[in-house]
Amino acid sequence: MLIHNNPLFSIYFGNADDNISSDQYLGYPKKVQLLSIEPYKRLQKLMHLEDLFFLNQIHSAKGVIVSEKAQFEPFSVQGDYLITDQKHIGIGIMTGDCLPIIFYDNLHNVAAIVHAGWRGSVEHVAVKALAHMQAQFGTKIEHIRIFFGPSAKSCCYQVGQEFEKHLEHFSFADQILYKEERGIMFDLPLCNKLQLEHVGVAKEAFRLQYNSCTICDPRYCSYRREGANGSRQMTVVVIR
Ligand SMILES: [Zn+2]
Repeated sequence: MLIHNNPLFSIYFGNADDNISSDQYLGYPKKVQLLSIEPYKRLQKLMHLEDLFFLNQIHSAKGVIVSEKAQFEPFSVQGDYLITDQKHIGIGIMTGDCLPIIFYDNLHNVAAIVHAGWRGSVEHVAVKALAHMQAQFGTKIEHIRIFFGPSAKSCCYQVGQEFEKHLEHFSFADQILYKEERGIMFDLPLCNKLQLEHVGVAKEAFRLQYNSCTICDPRYCSYRREGANGSRQMTVVVIR
């Protein structure tokens, strides 16, 4: 587990120690108090959380703004990004190999977290989350910092020949697929980074040091390595 600490916000980058399966978190009873059970209880202490929100992730490009405590039941609302300007309210995602993206607007003190697998990335989920922040909070691109969490990377993320068609609408498609002897490799983080750069985000806004490869680094849960029944890691951001 790694924590990025800043006086204004902190980000928890979990790993295989979170050890939580989708059956588990999609099966919680109604009215569950997440912060009273593990592994969230541990997070509550680490990050001084007063509430914690996760969505029922569906690889879409839709998301929700969290504006108050207990706004909805954990994992009950479908979507793939969360945005909040509320202090001490954590917003999180669960991932196997998908890319966690965190936005922080240091002028308005607003944070967002995005679940970007290939499907969401093809649907521009990160750009849509950023546009939602801009519309709701007046966020300006020059005040944004962007963190990438652990995900499948181009060293290991092999795709089939037919995958290319999903990327046809990107002007930079040839930069995010690498044709090698062993097969075709997809660069999920770069796919998201280039989309954000294309809407004006500066290269200097990106913090990529937490973007380890979940497939070849055994410290992380990986959908590709462990299959659909494998466990997931959390990424959570909170402003204070
Ligand atoms: Zn790798």
